[in-house]
Parts: sequence; C-alpha cells; structure tokens
Amino acid sequence: MKIAIIGGGAAGLVAAGSAKNAEVVVFDHNDKLGKKIYITGKGRCNFTNVCDNETFLSNVVTNAPFLRSALSRFTPYDAVELIEQNGCKTKVERGRRAFPSSDKASDIIKALTAYAKSNNAEFRLGVKISDLSYNNEENKFSVRYDGGEERFDRVIVCAGGLSYPSTGSDGSAYRFVKKFGHKMISPVPSLVGLKTDIDFSSAEGLTLKNIELGADGVKPIFGDLMITRDGVSGPVALTMSAYLSRREKPYTAYIDFKPALTSEELDDRLLREFGAGQNKSFKNILDGLLPKSIIPFIIDRSGISPDKHVNVITRGERQSLVKALKRFEFKVVSTEGFERAVVTCGGVNVKEIYPKTMMSRLCRGLYICGEMLDVDALTGGYNLHIALATGFVAGVSASGDNYD
Ligand SMILES: Cc1cc2nc3c(=O)[nH]c(=O)nc-3n(C[C@H](O)[C@H](O)[C@H](O)COP(=O)(O)OP(=O)(O)OC[C@H]3O[C@@H](n4cnc5c(N)ncnc54)[C@H](O)[C@@H]3O)c2cc1C
Repeated sequence: MKIAIIGGGAAGLVAAGSAKNAEVVVFDHNDKLGKKIYITGKGRCNFTNVCDNETFLSNVVTNAPFLRSALSRFTPYDAVELIEQNGCKTKVERGRRAFPSSDKASDIIKALTAYAKSNNAEFRLGVKISDLSYNNEENKFSVRYDGGEERFDRVIVCAGGLSYPSTGSDGSAYRFVKKFGHKMISPVPSLVGLKTDIDFSSAEGLTLKNIELGADGVKPIFGDLMITRDGVSGPVALTMSAYLSRREKPYTAYIDFKPALTSEELDDRLLREFGAGQNKSFKNILDGLLPKSIIPFIIDRSGISPDKHVNVITRGERQSLVKALKRFEFKVVSTEGFERAVVTCGGVNVKEIYPKTMMSRLCRGLYICGEMLDVDALTGGYNLHIALATGFVAGVSASGDNYD
C-alpha cells in the first residue's frame, strides 16, 4: 500500500507514523517539517490538554461532535505517551496544558519526526503539490508537483488552514480537494486579535488583569486583556474572536473593568474613594482603581470634567462613571486577519468526512485531517491535539485493508 501525505505538520507527521506497514511519502513545500509547530505556544508548544474527553469537547468551538470518535481513539493521554515514547519528556502546567519539559517546540517536532521515521516514512521537502486526481482505470491517485507526478493507492491531505501563511499553510490544497466535490465552509480567522473603533494607541502594551470582555450572545469572558495599537488582544480577546469569528462586523463589545463588584458595590467604593480624597480633582482619584494609561479613556467616557473636584461630583455623574467602568462599550470593526490568527475557522465541511476514519464520503481512499477540516477550538493545546488525533486516525485507517 502506497500512501501520499500532503503536509508535514502535526497531522501529517502523526499520520505518517500511524499508517503502519504502508509505504508512506510525506510531501511538504517547506524545507523543514513542522514549521508551524516551532512557533506554537510562544516557541514552547502546548501540544495537548490533559483532560477528559468531555472537558476537551467543551473547549472545541466548531463541530465538537465530529471529533468524539477520533478523540476516543487518540486521547490527550495517548498524545503525551506518543511524545514521550519518541524521546521527548513532557510536563503539565496550569490549566492542564502539556509542554515539552525542555520548553522547546523543536523537541516536539523531533519526537513527531521520530514517530514518522519509525514507520520508515520518506520525506519529500520543498515539494509543492499542485494537483490531485483519481484515475478510475488504474484505481490510483495521481499526485502532481512541479516537474513530476506519482501514483498512490491512498492520499491523506493535511495541508492546514490559512492562518500564519508564512508557515506554509496557504490554502493551496483547498483547491484540489474541491475538485472531488468537497464543499468548503468559508475560512475566517479565529483566535486572533480584534481591531476596534477606539484608538487605544496611548495604552498600547498594557495588560488589563482580571477583567471581563462581553458581547451580546456570549457569556462574558473573564481573564487578561492586552491593549494593542488598534484594538485588543490577549487571552480573553482571542476567546471572543473564536466564539464570534463569524459575527458580522462591526459588532458591539464591552469591557467590565471591575467584574468582581456589582454596580452598587462599585458605587460604594467610589463614594469611599471620593470621601477620602475630597480635595482631589477627578483625574487624580482613579489611580487606585485602574492602570494609569487607561484612565483617560474612562474619564472621557464618564463625561465628567477631569478637573472637577470630587466632592462636587453628582450622583448622576457617578452613575455614568460606574457605567464606563462596568460596561465600556466599543465596536469590533475587524480582526488582525489570517496573518496573525492562531487557527482557521472553516475548511472542509465535516459532513463530508467519516468521523471514525477521516475518509472522504465523496472519494474512497482520500482522507482529510487536521486544521484543513472545519473544526477549531480555544487555546490550551486543543488545536494541536485535534491535528494529532485526526492525523492518527487517518493514518491508521488509510493503511488498513478495508475502508472502515
Ligand atoms: C502562532 C501560533 C501559535 C499556536 N500555538 C498553539 C499551541 O500552543 N497549542 C495548540 O494546540 N495549537 C497552537 N496553534 C495551532 C496549531 O499550531 C495548528 O492548529 C496545528 O499546527 C495544525 O496542524 P496541521 O498539521 O493540521 O496543519 P499545519 O501545521 O499548518 O501543516 C500543514 C502543512 O502542509 C504544508 N502544505 C500546505 N499546502 C501544501 C501543498 N500544496 N503542498 C505541499 N505542502 C503543503 C504546509 O507547508 C504545512 O507544513 C498555534 C498556531 C499559531 C499560528
């Protein structure tokens, strides 16, 4: 059995290792394997999340039920074992996130490459696949690249999505799977910074700790928010971008700077602060409540003159200050785009893929897995695990004698 694997990322390397006893050729147009893995987890590679399957699925944003079967065949514990057995010690950190003990993503690439090599996989690097077709007479797939063409019994396409195209995932494989009749769910960036209608540049680089970010239709997201030149990023913004990746823009979002306090409790706190600093002007009273660089935004939103003495601030003014702190609204106008997106939402419609095998329902012997599929999850190691698990299942299935 000769199998072509198109894409030498996380999904492709695991598929290459799990396709036991097949003759496996991995094609990648990069000169190195696993280029994207190098930059994951800020270079440390959070390769899975060591949790039970239900918790895992609750962190999958798009098409969680499709992953149930793959996840039960290749759990986060299996991922840790595979990485360890291939020479890389691992550790689990806060939030059950698994990393290589060395904190080096390159060690994960080495382990996955070792796994693929243990199955005698052949690597063809610097080769861009330009086309794929099926020849009914020969019962073979024809894989085409610049200057050549080869025949394979089965093909696993795991060429990634559109995010961080500099790592090689440029969407070029979408075109040839469409030729087999696959419908694409239009790809949009996910886990990505949000651009807002407010010029936040004077606070650029600030991290707001323990705030809540909200929008209509989503549960407020608690955590840290980073202010960027033209918007917001960091954990809570990325999570919001995942839940609202398809929401038409602009849409209204808000920051609650004081989620631990109700509006009434916050008003009491303000009264106390104002009472203690009677002779202070408004602009000098907020230091204890907020980081310095964000104060001008709150003053502006409250409508209270910055030079007004706090002892003459009215109840109505205080209420508008409470609103500015508890519901600081802004518009999300766009995202930072695929160039900066951690993951792609959209891709091959999972209704056209058998969830137990990753085989196409439209073409026997064609398997599609990894980020190329319309599945995506929150941060925490889930996305890499999806690539590993679906790649594992695709490799095992493609190398089997039957198609199930
Ligand atoms: C900055 C960043 C940080 C991240 N951090 C994490 C993290 O810590 N934890 C986590 O779980 N997830 C993380 N992710 C997401 C995760 O990296 C991806 O979801 C995962 O790597 C997808 O794996 P894949 O094998 O499906 O695709 P890819 O890794 O994109 O691999 C696809 C491969 O196919 C090749 N290819 C594409 N087209 C062709 C073609 N026509 N011919 C030949 N080769 C082709 C590409 O060169 C590429 O090597 C991060 C992503 C980014 C961008």
